[in-house]
Amino acid sequence: MKVENLILGAGIAGLGASYGFYQKGKSSCVVEKNSTYGGLCDSFEINGFRFDRFVHLTFAQEKEVNDIFRKSCGELTTHIPNPFNLYHGLWVKHPAQNNLYPLSEEEKKLIVSDFMKRPTITEEQKPDNYEEWLRWQFGNYFAEHFPMVYTKKYWMKEASQLRTEWVGKRIYQPSVDEVIAGCNTAETPVTYYAKEMRYPKKGGFKALLREMADHADIKYNYEVKHIDTQNKEVAFGNGEVISFGNLYSSLPLPEIIAMLDDVPSHVSEAASQLEATSGYHISIALKTKDIPPYLWWYIYDEDILAARVYSPSLKSADNAPEGCSSLQMEVYCKEGAYTEQQLLDGTVGRLIELGVINKDDILFTHVGFEKYANVIFTEPIYDARKTVRDYLAAKGICTFGRFGEWDYLWTNQSLLSGLNLSK
Ligand SMILES: Cc1cc2nc3c(=O)[nH]c(=O)nc-3n(C[C@H](O)[C@H](O)[C@H](O)COP(=O)(O)OP(=O)(O)OC[C@H]3O[C@@H](n4cnc5c(N)ncnc54)[C@H](O)[C@@H]3O)c2cc1C
Repeated sequence: MKVENLILGAGIAGLGASYGFYQKGKSSCVVEKNSTYGGLCDSFEINGFRFDRFVHLTFAQEKEVNDIFRKSCGELTTHIPNPFNLYHGLWVKHPAQNNLYPLSEEEKKLIVSDFMKRPTITEEQKPDNYEEWLRWQFGNYFAEHFPMVYTKKYWMKEASQLRTEWVGKRIYQPSVDEVIAGCNTAETPVTYYAKEMRYPKKGGFKALLREMADHADIKYNYEVKHIDTQNKEVAFGNGEVISFGNLYSSLPLPEIIAMLDDVPSHVSEAASQLEATSGYHISIALKTKDIPPYLWWYIYDEDILAARVYSPSLKSADNAPEGCSSLQMEVYCKEGAYTEQQLLDGTVGRLIELGVINKDDILFTHVGFEKYANVIFTEPIYDARKTVRDYLAAKGICTFGRFGEWDYLWTNQSLLSGLNLSK
């Protein structure tokens, strides 16, 4: 079989690529190892409850992206972000640095005192790593007790091992006045970086992809195993072989490199330096609506495995049966780092101990694993991914999407990364 434009991966990026060709009147074929589309944007259903693969909401600004989303699922539910943090049993509004009100007077004093002692930074100075950036921004006490702890849980690295270019607007940098104001009152303005977030009224996050999937030629259960760039052929785990005119890949860069023959050692070495977080989502179905009222919350405590919790049923009531609710907890670690029982004890079990949920309300739990979550911004990332992408481009493989660009792309950016290929 021969196709002109072969697209690897039916995540939002791969579907965006296929949709771009469709809009231009050109044909393409998408191959996907799973039996459905969506990748990280997929949703799954169990006994009338729907869960996404980690928390997903859209804050897309681009008209062309929002047009596709609206065509897919009509009007979306809008949420005004107001996340919280769970810190030593206290509910602290997010971001914690300017919402310290619930903390003890003693701890607030320590944080403010260290905040005031921060070194003055000139425009030219650049922090060596994320830990230094955190200490410069927030002072030592806050840095050590909040983001440095969270970094280990979310990024699976010490803050000192990370670069800082990815931070951008993601972490709020308050003034001293804002920190002090947040110590004295709970009534602080919302300073989260996205002003509103949207979610399909029905069908879970995956519903946003329907328009693209409807116009795509997708071959499911086609797991790419080998790529022959000379003869322009891709071989699959099911024994099929497809010849292509042009090849576009949204698969993780290290995986693509492993599918090629005779890769120069410096390229293989570069690919081995590209690291990504992986993790488990632990989903909880509850026969009550009595759950914390926050759409999502971060957990700083190290004795709770999850870094973040969110509620699919608060994202959309359509995600749970009448009178029920749901939560999903995110634990970042390598596959097999914990047994299923350890995962449940360290997440669901801890919420029960803290009185956040009641054991008798639990209908079922589910544990799922994602091998690729976020790319990690360790020191070699920029040079290594350039080496790998340049090599693949020279071999005629165009890489795109979150793991093809190897970047911190949101869904709208991943979609555009694919859509723009045909422009
Ligand atoms: C924890 C977390 C939370 C997030 N929250 C948000 C959010 O709230 N809002 C937002 O906008 N973005 C969010 N994102 C980002 C978003 O998930 C990504 O930008 C987007 O899903 C990436 O899409 P993609 O198509 O590039 O990659 P993927 O979704 O990974 O798609 C790649 C596809 O390739 C397939 N594949 C892999 N290997 C093979 C193979 N060998 N053969 C064939 N097929 C293969 C996979 O099955 C998959 O379908 C979040 C990401 C994470 C990890």
